[in-house]
Amino acid sequence: MATNITLDRIAAEPADHAAAGVDARGDERASARRPLIGLSRAELADALGDLGIPPAQRRMRASQLWGWLYGRGATDFAAMTNIAKDLRARLEGACDLARPEIVTEQVSNDGTRKWLLRLPASEPGGRAPEIETVYIPEADRGTLCISSQIGCTLTCTFCHTGTQRLVRNLTAGEIVGQILLARDRIGDWPGAEAPDPRGLPVGDRKITNIVLMGMGEPLYNFDNVRTAMDIASDGEGLSISKRRITLSTSGIVPMMERAGAEAGLMLAVSLHAVRDDLRDVLVPINRKYPIATLLDACRNYPGLSNARRITFEYVMLKGVNDSVAEARELVRLLAGIPAKINLIPFNPWPGSPYECSDWEQIERFAEVVNRAGYASPIRTPRGRDIMAACGQLKSASEKLRASERRAMAPLPANTGGAVS
Ligand code: SAH
Ligand code: SF4
Repeated sequence: MATNITLDRIAAEPADHAAAGVDARGDERASARRPLIGLSRAELADALGDLGIPPAQRRMRASQLWGWLYGRGATDFAAMTNIAKDLRARLEGACDLARPEIVTEQVSNDGTRKWLLRLPASEPGGRAPEIETVYIPEADRGTLCISSQIGCTLTCTFCHTGTQRLVRNLTAGEIVGQILLARDRIGDWPGAEAPDPRGLPVGDRKITNIVLMGMGEPLYNFDNVRTAMDIASDGEGLSISKRRITLSTSGIVPMMERAGAEAGLMLAVSLHAVRDDLRDVLVPINRKYPIATLLDACRNYPGLSNARRITFEYVMLKGVNDSVAEARELVRLLAGIPAKINLIPFNPWPGSPYECSDWEQIERFAEVVNRAGYASPIRTPRGRDIMAACGQLKSASEKLRASERRAMAPLPANTGGAVS
């Protein structure tokens, strides 16, 4: 049985009042105390400058603080014993270490965890938006699937997130906060223990990989994603190597070169079709950046090599894109690109217009791809019983009123914006 834990803090309050309480705290956070999670090292040093730390000490103090935030997972300034008491008191008064608030934590039969997280409201008295983060444990590794936006402006027809109309970019702090919170809940800090250890990998590190495959299109929020992943990969903190962080994009061609050059992450591209007429329907951004243009951007992706291949994701939709002829065409299209092909069995959601391909058909497809020399793992669906699998994520925040939607921060103009 999957379990659905509503944390005590939330359960203790009647639902309507819970939302109001969260908003009040969100407003207080936003106005009174500066969030430190998500600041770059330089920004952290500046924040210390604002608290009166002399320039000569700022780097050293920022480094100490960094170790507490990202090496030890401190949630409280009082724990930071190597920082002088008066500075701790000043930090306490002026700064905030809050993670996103957990609304529910669900643990699947297979150990997969899904958290529904509540973020501060954008306007006083407004309702707080929600996002989802998923942790997928395996015997010797653990992958955290994080969100980069609330909802998604793109409208891929097989994706549940794509049916959610409400969208805003997450801040760098909200992106990193998902990693911190997951590490809190699975006991992935030095000396910590998980409250519920079911299904967790053995070994020192429980989160070994990060995939930007939750809600949203990460290349529409690139600056915040890059800052957050610089923090995640910092060797004196979370220390997750960029070789183990994968950014998945639906193919925002004008951003791909910058993403490769500036972030240096592994790239996954959601291809899903080998013909433009079909991809136009499945991944509508294809009308703007068709397959040939997308594959050119892949060929030119900075750092591409046999050791750093691009993963092409291909969702298996029964009778839509799963024929053997399409498998052959896929192989032909990818010729010359160092690539892996990831076949994803379609994960259904209520009202979804597609069915998952039959298992035999997925195997026939995989065989063509394998024979052409590509590793083509079929991604085993995980956490289906708690709707945590790819493309099933969709928070309750879409239920916000129109006025609340308008109050959400607009997307920056230079990111391409909505196409829906
Ligand atoms: N927006 C980005 C990243 C988030 S989606 C992108 O589209 O790449 C992460 C992956 O899940 C994508 O490959 C997406 O196509 C896939 N996906 C979405 N809905 C799915 C579903 N219902 N079943 C299986 N995979 C799905
Ligand atoms: Fe957005 Fe990716 Fe879903 Fe498409 S598949 S709607 S780009 S999250």
